[in-house]
Formats: sequence, C-alpha cells, structure tokens
Amino acid sequence: MAQSPEPILAARGVRKSFGGVEVLHGVDLDATGGSVLALLGENGAGKSTLVKIASGVYTADAGTIRIGGNEYASLTSREARELGVAIISQEFQDAATLSVAENISMGSLPASRGFVRWAEVRRRAVAILEALEVDIDPDRTVGDLRLGERQIIEIARALSREARVLILDEPTAALSFHEAEVLFDFVRRLRAEGAALVYITHRLDEVERISDRVQVLRDGSTALVAPTSEVDRRAMVEAMIGRRASALGRPAAVGNGEDDRPVLQWTDAGSSDYFDDVNLKVGAHEVVALYGKLGSGASEVAETAFGLRGVDRGALQVGAGDADAPEHPIGAVNTGIGYLPAERKTAGGFMVRPVAENVAVASWQRLARYGFWIRKATEAEAYNRWHEKLSIRSRNDPQQIMGTLSGGNQQKVLLARWLENRCDVLVLVEPTRGVDVGAREDIYGALRELASSGVGVLVVTSDYEEAFQVADRVYVMTKGAIVAELEGDEITTPALLELAGG
Ligand code: ADP
Ligand code: MG
Repeated sequence: MAQSPEPILAARGVRKSFGGVEVLHGVDLDATGGSVLALLGENGAGKSTLVKIASGVYTADAGTIRIGGNEYASLTSREARELGVAIISQEFQDAATLSVAENISMGSLPASRGFVRWAEVRRRAVAILEALEVDIDPDRTVGDLRLGERQIIEIARALSREARVLILDEPTAALSFHEAEVLFDFVRRLRAEGAALVYITHRLDEVERISDRVQVLRDGSTALVAPTSEVDRRAMVEAMIGRRASALGRPAAVGNGEDDRPVLQWTDAGSSDYFDDVNLKVGAHEVVALYGKLGSGASEVAETAFGLRGVDRGALQVGAGDADAPEHPIGAVNTGIGYLPAERKTAGGFMVRPVAENVAVASWQRLARYGFWIRKATEAEAYNRWHEKLSIRSRNDPQQIMGTLSGGNQQKVLLARWLENRCDVLVLVEPTRGVDVGAREDIYGALRELASSGVGVLVVTSDYEEAFQVADRVYVMTKGAIVAELEGDEITTPALLELAGG
C-alpha cells in the first residue's frame, strides 16, 4: 500500500455553529492517500457537518482546510471539486428528471465548441456502470430508479471525476448486499490507486472490513483516533456513546423454559412466488430472528403476519389458540399482533403528528372513553409511560412533532406504540436500519424485556449483526426458502454470513 505520510486533505480546529449552537468544537481530520478513514459517531455527533465543511458545502466558523499543501479558511464546493474532493452525501444531489447518463456527467459535461458531446456522455456512463458491475440502463430517468440505484448513480458521478479525496456519507444504508459489495471493491481499488477515502458508517463490520484508521466523533469533538487494527468493536462503541457498552455479544436467554407455546406459526406456508414451504414458529418468551438478505422473501413473510399479504399455501396461525391468519391489518391488531415496518416514514409513523398520538394510535380503542372519545392528556400519559423507559430523546414534550425526532428516536416511539398496545406478538422489520448504536442497544434491550414478559418477538432483518445480537433463535432465508435454523451457540456471525451467502 502506497501510504504517503502527508495527508491530501487535512482539517484543523474546525468549529461550526447552527443557530447559535456550536456543533463542532475544534475538530481535526486527516485524509491520507492510499488509506481509508472510517468516521463514526452517533446521530447528531457532527460527522456530516464535518465532511460538508471539508468539501466546501458548508463554511467553517473557525479552523482551516489544507488540500494538497494549500491552506483555505473558506472553500466553495466548486473549488473543492476542482481540487479533487468529491462527496457523496446522504441527500441526493441528482436531477430526477434527467437520464442516468446525464446525471453521471452532471457538472462536468464533455463539450466541444459549445456543444455537449452526447455520445461521449453516454459512453462515459456505460463505461463507469460497467466498471461498477451494475446493470442500470444509462437512458433511464433517474427519478424512476430505486433508492439503492440512485445511490449508485451518485457514486458513479463522483468516480467519473477521478477524485483524489472521496468522502462517502453512509453510502450503504440504501444499498442491497450485492451493491454494497461492489462498492467495497471500488473503495479498495481507489485506495490502491492512491486516493484518500473518508467513509462514514454506522456498521462496525464495514469499519473492520475496509478501513485503515478510525475516528470517532462524539457531541462535536473527537473521542478516538486510531489504526483500525488496534481497536476492537467495544472500544469504538464506547467512544461513540461515551459510556460502557453492554457486551456486543449474544443476549442472555429470557425464556423460562416452561411456557413455550407458539404464538405465531407458519406451517408449509407459501405466498405467490415470494416464499414457499416456510415452517417457522415464534414462542411466547422468545426473540426469534428471520435473517435474509434483500429479496430473500423474509420481509414478505413478515407482511403475512400482519395481513398485509395473503398466505395462499399451507397455514399461518396466530395467537396461542387457533386463530387463523389475519386477513387485513385491523384484524391483526385485534388478534394481538404488533407490526413495525421497515419504512418508518411511509408505513409506520405519522410524521406530522405529535409523538403522543403516534404512541397512542394503536390503543385508541382501549384508551378511549365511552368507546370514541380520546383525550390529549390520556395520550400524553401513554407517551410518558415509555419516554423514560426507552430513553426517547425528545424535548420531553408529548406534543413534539414526530418528524422532528432523529430516526432512532422515531423508532423508539413506534416501539412504544406496540408496548402500549400490550400485544402478544410483535413483528419488526429492520428495526434498527439507520439507527445509531446507542439507540440500537436501547431497542434491543426493550425487545429482550418484552420477551421476558411473555411476548413473542419476531425480528426480520438483513443485518447479521442484528440477528446475532438480539435473537434466541435464528431462521436463515434465501431465495424464498428457509435454509437453516440456529439456536444458542450455533448462532455465530460467520455461520449467519455463510448460510445467507448462497
Ligand atoms: P451526524 O452526521 O453525525 O449525524 P450532523 O453533522 O448531521 O451529525 O449534525 C450535527 C448537529 O448539527 C446536529 O445536532 C444537527 O441537528 C445539527 N445540524 C446539522 N445540520 C444543520 C443545519 N443545516 N441546520 C441546523 N442544524 C444542523
Ligand atoms: Mg449524518
């Protein structure tokens, strides 16, 4: 590895305030050629702000940015781009109505004598998409693409500029497993070519796989900088959350061994061509994970539990009795099933409504007086019951609007909804996607506690770390079929990765 000692980009003493509140308190950052720096930290730690300053999107209140030996007190994004600094940020910068090819060349359209060379635009797109090993038609309109595909286009655009410093702000959050692997290959290739990479992620396995150094931000200051090989996961987590992390290992069993009647059970179940011959049961007092990569059919299995999708072969039983599968979500709520979908914004949370209402909504029947009248105070009580228990970080105001909370806290509010509803079975799909590590621990703790109180919990996840950390038993699903069931010591991260790999 060609490791030049002098960083290509060096930030020194960066300070930044928003609305009078300082969110970066004099932070340094070194992006060295031939090296990947992983930048970690909980939501709100200042990661995005720091890299936006380094790439000229924001201007620092104090401090300097040194690029290729020259020092800048302020930098426009155009200047940064011309100096070879590219950023792929969480907010898409694409033009939804333009084609894939146009988007890839956006900002650097090849032209001669004032005319854009469209054939060249297309040729460039084809070459870079091929190099990325993705099958996206360069003539498609970007607005029609999946989220993960749009992310790939952003990456393609940055790569087409041959950046010397490439900053990736949580790039894999929206990517499929395969897309993420392709991205990793690319990151490694760029590093080998001498580029400096800054990689922001929540995922510690990614940190270990692709970074050379790690820097942890906490509340706007650097809490840790070290070579990746010299720190373990626990040290990273502790630096992030500023307190001792609970063991990043397998949970202690909560089942009492006596009461293991299934509360949710699929028998030889199938649903159109999403999955077939699924045998899976969830007992009271246990947390079960259904682990499968995107497209494995796992999330479709979850949807049948809540009546969002039908089971057309075999059987699905809900509850300890003989209740049949719910035919629609209302029926599911009445049979005691809670459901937390992956898409908080579109399917679960009412973003423009107060948090208290978001907690109470599934329990309105029980909370309402005379069957129809629900008081704000009752909703507030419902919220306050869970606020502390789940350490929901809001301004402690039940009327705060849901959409103003961070992702992790929104997820806790949705969890509180089902805790308040006293369900017997809780099905969660990707419960901690995009949730930072501290909030993740709180959520896992709540799920374990729920199971110990007798609720059957099913966590559907594409994250093997999640399956490893939260479940008593794990079913592994690939291509619409359950390929393994693991329990206790059999649940290891290599086993999970290997079984889902096929
Ligand atoms: P991270 O990327 O680590 O999650 P951010 O850099 O996005 O953190 O945010 C750091 C802090 O700055 C947060 O408290 C956030 O609310 C605040 N912040 C970020 N961008 C803005 C902005 N444009 N206006 C006001 N506050 C902001
Ligand atoms: Mg961020």
